[in-house]
Amino acid sequence: MALVTSTEMFKKAYEGGYAIGAFNVNNMEIVQGITEAAKEVNAPLILQVSAGARKYANHTYLMKLVEAAIIETNLPICLHLDHGDTFELCKSCIDGGFTSVMIDGSHHSFEDNIALTKQVVEYAHARGVVVEAELGRLAGIEDAVNVSDADAAFTKPDEVEEFVTKTGVDSLAIAIGTSHGAYKFKPGQKPQLRFDILAEVEKRLPKFPIVLHGASSVIPEFVEMINNNGGKMPDAIGIPEEMLRKAASMAVCKINIDSDLRLAMTGSIRKYFAENPSHFDPRQYLKPAREAIKGLVKNKIVNVLGSDGKA
Ligand SMILES: [Zn+2]
Repeated sequence: MALVTSTEMFKKAYEGGYAIGAFNVNNMEIVQGITEAAKEVNAPLILQVSAGARKYANHTYLMKLVEAAIIETNLPICLHLDHGDTFELCKSCIDGGFTSVMIDGSHHSFEDNIALTKQVVEYAHARGVVVEAELGRLAGIEDAVNVSDADAAFTKPDEVEEFVTKTGVDSLAIAIGTSHGAYKFKPGQKPQLRFDILAEVEKRLPKFPIVLHGASSVIPEFVEMINNNGGKMPDAIGIPEEMLRKAASMAVCKINIDSDLRLAMTGSIRKYFAENPSHFDPRQYLKPAREAIKGLVKNKIVNVLGSDGKA
């Protein structure tokens, strides 16, 4: 098995009423935890790399880690650039072997977003690579993406047909109330997603794959694991898993998960050191971190995304 695009995955996911998990990767233990989980439940995967991850780990290291995961698991894996902000960055990932890129022109005007997305689509499609774009703006912070609540905006359904037709893009990230980072809703605030917008988009773009960013559930178990072991996270409320299941049963074919991985990894490392303060062998604390990621991803695939058995 070689790297694949997300075209077939999305087609089957749309028809089957489930979603593909898109998990952010930064190092070997994260790649291993995610792909070992997917292997055990036979799920197709999107592994995604942000500009920040690419800077941290280096393009070649990440490529080779993902190639190793394909050899070890024999799963269909799509390697995706998360939040590409320029044509040059997308081009560099396409030239470097990624099978999918996101061009995020959501901070531009509608017209400029179309022009930039179209430029990336033309370059990508000529090389067999697929493209995700974004309409509307999510609030929150993720690597280089930082949008205040005031600047966030829901996707306007009456713009989606023109955008997709003019750009030729393969999938579309929309803003319906999810947000980047661990602090999605304030304490006391009730998590809400605009399923009416999703339904309207689905009506206007039949059979077209929709993407949900900022979709971590901020699982209390891991937040508590951090706070009970010397950490200090303010109250964090994520997207309830039943809302993600509902989105997956609709037009959403790709659900992005990053913050939950970070919390699982950090929680288990903090717990390890609280219990073993004199240990200093990185393998000792990275092993439970990798196991925590594996358990989390398996649960997401089976209980939230519904992509188990679909590889
Ligand atoms: Zn995102």
